[in-house]
Amino acid sequence: MTDTETLADRILAGDRRALARAVTLVESTRADHRGEAAALLERLRGAGRQALRIGLSGTPGVGKSTFIEAFGMMLIGQGLRVAVLAVDPSSARSGGSILGDKTRMERLSREKAAFIRPSPSSTHLGGVARRTREAVALCEAAGFDVVLIETVGVGQSETMVAQMCDLFVLLLAPAGGDELQGVKRGIMEMADLILVNKADGDLKATATRTVADYAGALRLLRHRPQDPEGFPKALPVSAVTEEGLAAAWAEMQALAGLRRESGWWDRTRAEQAAHWFEEEVRAGLLRRLAEPGVRAEMAAQAKAVVRGDISPEAAAQAVIRGLGAED
Ligand code: GDP
Repeated sequence: MTDTETLADRILAGDRRALARAVTLVESTRADHRGEAAALLERLRGAGRQALRIGLSGTPGVGKSTFIEAFGMMLIGQGLRVAVLAVDPSSARSGGSILGDKTRMERLSREKAAFIRPSPSSTHLGGVARRTREAVALCEAAGFDVVLIETVGVGQSETMVAQMCDLFVLLLAPAGGDELQGVKRGIMEMADLILVNKADGDLKATATRTVADYAGALRLLRHRPQDPEGFPKALPVSAVTEEGLAAAWAEMQALAGLRRESGWWDRTRAEQAAHWFEEEVRAGLLRRLAEPGVRAEMAAQAKAVVRGDISPEAAAQAVIRGLGAED
């Protein structure tokens, strides 16, 4: 058996160490690793396993890690296996990540039925998202039932996460009416479920009002013809007292079930696959452009253009034709 085959078998057996190794492999930018990662993903795809992929977005401090820990523990209590991944736009700049960090979810990280992985670092958000999407596929193959994909951002990271999810949950804090404006319309439009967290103690009454405000705003925003009756919804939760978590899970399952029945699920997953295929082609071509041989060819063609020996168009065509051939 090749290394890839052995790794694939271990992942299919649910081995978390093998899964962690595979995630590291898909995060690598080395050309040979990219090839291995593609072979591995292709092999695992054959298993046909699917998890419920849930995107979870919220600004820092809203309670994402507290929520994921409590929600994840609840699901594990029901016998489910839960993976937590992250798409962190700041990791694209800093190389570090504040999301999906095990120290933020201490109880969950000790559970055998959990797998937590911080955001990959990359030089740009598109790379972070592509690698996370591959990590999602690995978690599915490893038999995880639920994959939570955490993000925080200004819109762009949410759009990318929505492209790899079956449902999208927005976590918000209790707020006065004016503050509703602070939530970007585009992000609201992506949400299937708005959970107003911290609906406990002194904040409970404000949270109830906030839920009503968002429910109203969701009704006004748009009508998605593909949405089942009653969705998108707003609900109160408390990650600390755990009140509302079971209700939120019931809504997610109901929506997922309705989407499976209507054919939306399969259609959306197929569209998402087509989207990531295009992204991968684009990224692959950009990587080719950065290879030394191609750069040398471009530099030579640029010189010829400057000398007036060849037109920019013809020189570009020559480079593009050359891309088809590997170095
Ligand atoms: P994150 O930055 O979105 O991951 O937020 P954290 O989970 O770190 O939570 C930020 C702060 O909010 C912490 O002090 C939490 O204890 C608090 N917090 C989170 N969830 C709740 C909740 O349901 N109720 C209350 N009262 N506080 C909460």
